[in-house]
Amino acid sequence: MSNVAIVLAAGSGKRMNSDVKKQYMLLEGRPIITYSLDVMEKSDIITDVILVTSAEDIDYCDREIRDRYGYDKIRSIVPGGRERYHSVMAGLDEIKRLKEVAGISGDTADTAVRDDKADHVFIHDGARPFITEDMLKRLYEEVCLSEACVAAVRSKDTVKIANSADYVVSTPNRELTWIIQTPQVFEYTLAKEAYDILREEECGLPCQGIVVTDDAMVVETWTRHKVKLVEGSYENIKVTTPEDLLFAEAIVKSKFNK
Ligand code: C5P
Repeated sequence: MSNVAIVLAAGSGKRMNSDVKKQYMLLEGRPIITYSLDVMEKSDIITDVILVTSAEDIDYCDREIRDRYGYDKIRSIVPGGRERYHSVMAGLDEIKRLKEVAGISGDTADTAVRDDKADHVFIHDGARPFITEDMLKRLYEEVCLSEACVAAVRSKDTVKIANSADYVVSTPNRELTWIIQTPQVFEYTLAKEAYDILREEECGLPCQGIVVTDDAMVVETWTRHKVKLVEGSYENIKVTTPEDLLFAEAIVKSKFNK
């Protein structure tokens, strides 16, 4: 059985207006990415971690993240791509390569892996520090039942769908509106199948007006497999803009009694 986490850290962090990429900014003295890596390292659920970062940050991650914090579960640090979904593809490719290295070679790899229903992939934003072992357990229990699930919280605010001129087009029922987080968890073969189709159809996305922003969307769109929402946490924020750092500092202080 393997539960492999793909931790994404190849974003440029433009919205943070900082020279340091958001996932490597210090939060109470430690890089943001180490908070979720700590949980995964100690986790009974996660067996392996693939860290995806920009090519120029691979050495930094090897030295200042993997070695310095002693993350034995990080099997590989690989370069990501232009969009988030390219970075996910890089992580999935690395899992396939590791499986082949482990003894299943060439084309038979897919068949052998397909027979192993217990392989799961936990795709996580490195800029989201506050996952917990309980959350990983909830997701694992659900993925064993439904093969595809994502962490999410009910929207506290009313959500509007707008057009490109910022006029309201519709108002979804708030009772049914959720804010989607990560980890997003799938049976490995299902995620691979969905991303393989996306890879083939990628050039057609702009004409179809499709912007891929999460993994559930890739699975929903290209396999039509249903994705289950699992309770995440309101603390499971993504540190994206400068004010998020203030919230994150407050959460660290309350969680770790600093
Ligand atoms: O850009 P966004 O906020 O959606 O990024 C979510 C996560 O995906 C971040 O941890 C970021 O580093 C990662 N990412 C990536 N490769 C990209 C873009 C984003 O690994 N090309």
